[in-house]
Order: sequence, then C-alpha cells, then structure tokens
Amino acid sequence: MTRSDETWKALHPDTLAVGHGYDPREAWGAAKPPITLTSTYVYPSAQAAKDFHRAFFDGAAEAQGGGAIPSGFIYSRLGHPNLSMLEARMAALDRAEETAGFNSGMAAISTLALTVLRPGDSVVHSRPIYSGADNLLNLVLPDFGIQVEGLVDACDEAAVNAAADAALARGPLALFMLESPANPTAAIVDIALVRRVAEAVGARQGRRPLVSVDNTFLGPLLQNPLAHGADLTVTSLTKYCGGHSDLLAGSVSGSVELIGRLKSLRMILGNHMEPFTAWLMLRSLESLAVRTQRACANAAAVAGFLEGHPKVAKVTWLGLLAEGTPARNVYDRQCAAAGSTFSFAVHGGEAEAFRLLDRLSILKLAVSLGGSETLICHPATTTHYNVPRERREAGGITDATLRLSVGLEHPDDLVAELARALEAV
Ligand SMILES: *Cc1c(COP(=O)(O)O)cnc(C)c1O
Repeated sequence: MTRSDETWKALHPDTLAVGHGYDPREAWGAAKPPITLTSTYVYPSAQAAKDFHRAFFDGAAEAQGGGAIPSGFIYSRLGHPNLSMLEARMAALDRAEETAGFNSGMAAISTLALTVLRPGDSVVHSRPIYSGADNLLNLVLPDFGIQVEGLVDACDEAAVNAAADAALARGPLALFMLESPANPTAAIVDIALVRRVAEAVGARQGRRPLVSVDNTFLGPLLQNPLAHGADLTVTSLTKYCGGHSDLLAGSVSGSVELIGRLKSLRMILGNHMEPFTAWLMLRSLESLAVRTQRACANAAAVAGFLEGHPKVAKVTWLGLLAEGTPARNVYDRQCAAAGSTFSFAVHGGEAEAFRLLDRLSILKLAVSLGGSETLICHPATTTHYNVPRERREAGGITDATLRLSVGLEHPDDLVAELARALEAV
C-alpha cells in the first residue's frame, strides 16, 4: 500500500492495527519492519539535501516519495522510519488525518498544552484528571500566565457553561482539556456537549477554543473522540496500546494543521518517540483488538463478582452505570465497551483495603494500568498521595477505594484470589 492509495480506509481497525503503515517492499521484503537505529541520514547529493529540507520545513511533497514510509529523513529528532510507521498506524486507528508520536503520554500532553496556550489564555479541564496533567495545569502553567479552571460534571450543560464563563472572565478561553473516562473514578465527559459550548464561546470571543480528549482508558478501538467533536485525541500508549507494561510512549491525533504545529514544537523540545519504542508499539498494536476483547470480558467477570460481594461497598465499572442516568446516556452514545480499569471500595477504610492488598499474589500491587497482568493499587496512598483529602474525596476517592486494571489472566483465577483476599477484610 502506498501513501497515496487510500483503499485502506475501508478496512476494519483490527486489520489496520496489524499491518497499516508498513510495506515489506521497502525493507527487503522483511515481513516485520526493521528497527532503524541511526541518529542521522546521508544525503545522496547536495541538491537532495536541499530538497529534503525544503520538504521538511515547507511541506513540499515531491521529495517525500510515494511509498508507505516517506524518504528524505534528515536527523532522527525530526523524524525516522519507525516513527512514521507508528504515526500512520495510530492515525488510521484514531480516524485522524495525522498523528504525532512522543516519548511518553505526559510528553504528548505537555507539548499539546505548549502548542495551544499562550500567556493570558485560560483553559478548562475536566476533573478528576490524570495526576501528571493535573500538576502541569495547576502547578506549572500558572507560572506562564495561564489561567486554569476545573470542571467536575462534564455531562451537565449548566456546569460546562459555568466553567467556560469562569474561565472567560479570567482570559480568552483557548482549550478544553478533557479526560474520559477519568482516572480512577471512570467519570464520563460528554464530548459533543463540550464541543457545542466551545462553538458558542468561539462566537462570543472570535476564536473557538480547541477540545482535546485523553482517550487512554478506552483506547482507539473503544472510543473515537474525534468522531464526537474533539479536535485532538491524546493517548498514553504506555497503557492499553503498549499493553505489556514494558515501554513509555504517547500520541496526539488530529488535523494535518494542528499536528504539524505539535511536530514543529516536538522537534525543538526533543521529546519524540525513539525507534525501538516505535517498533515495540507497532508490534503491540497488532494484538490490541484481541487484548481489548479479553480484558473487557475479564473485567465484566471481576466487576460482576465484586458488585455482589457483601464486603464491597461500591464498584465504578462503566458496564454497571444505571440506565437512564446522564452518564449512561453519554456512555451509550460515545463508548463501544466499558474497558477494564475501574475502582471499587471495601466497607471500612485504609486498614481493610490494605488487608485485602497484602493477601494478593496473581494481582500485582503496582500503579499503572492496561498491561497484560492485572494491577491493583490504593489511590489515596499512591497515585493520589499528594492530592489534598478534600479534593480526593470530592473526586470520589476515599481511604477504602482500590483501583483495578484487569489483565489477560483466566478470569476464574482472578475472581478466586479476590474472593480469598476479601475474607481477610
Ligand atoms: C498514564 C497516563 C498518562 C501519562 O502517560 P505516561 O506515558 O505515563 O506519561 C496520561 N493520561 C492518562 C489517563 C494516563 O493513565
């Protein structure tokens, strides 16, 4: 498949995840892509060097070649073959014009913020939001003159409007930075609603705020934020897309124009994804569809077990959202399945939660999520350690809350171990 051939657009995501972005004819017929470990590229002639630079900086098409992998690489911080392959594949999965790959999810989020925001601007973010993003928004960006406003119920039109008004009162609103479902409570954001509010704000201030959505929890196969009105979709590839807890990576997908701006800044910041990670990511994406299916089925079994257990007070798995609630309506419209990371609370507090954790061995006690192994942690004393108690509890995290990322083990073994551990609570 060449880059100008667009027949791939008719294919299912599962198929694109296996092969899109790599053409064996460009690498001696190798069925799997080679890893291009080089920092710099040799120009065939002085004129070619000039053409490559013209193509890179002015977007001239003729020097980029017609193959799946563009030719004309200059220096690996500007781009390299494995990154081009991964970006083509992620763009296809996100149904986007283009993707930029980064060396972590936070590199993707920081570069997005620095591309879009200028001193004096304001930003509205959904709450709770990933702790790294929370720190960027509330500890770093204010020092650069950026005003930050949190939004708790992003399924409620009055709440979204109120947050937008509060932000506008402090400066031009440049960005809605959303995360849905949110970590660790699985709170849902109505992306289409936020886009409508963004349009209305645009009519008032003469510049429409951009809408970005962190899609890490469900990933490209279960939720497509761009189809619901987002301008940019962000993914920590470290989690489900990488899927084996053995790499750090991130991506942002969107229009050619916006992603071009992110890539220009990435070249300066130097936070691109390096070749080996991009290669590992290509391999990981091949199994994303089957991993997603199995993890969702396992999560349904585990959540169903916990939901009926007398020592469990609450389970936040999206598959259990009550019919008729606003969050359920948005979930039905926006998400293809419930994913496999959620939280539950035991009756009691920290002591009861710790007793459960200390009796586990198949379920690993660690932060992070989306790996092949099931991970469990106590957010109040780990991922949310430095979030003040009132803000933690307002976000639904108590001393009895445990976060679970259900992996690919046999569901009966997971349920049996949790049943044994709950006896100790
Ligand atoms: C982990 C995570 C991030 C950050 O990704 P890194 O790859 O660790 O930098 C961002 N958003 C969400 C929702 C995450 O779970």
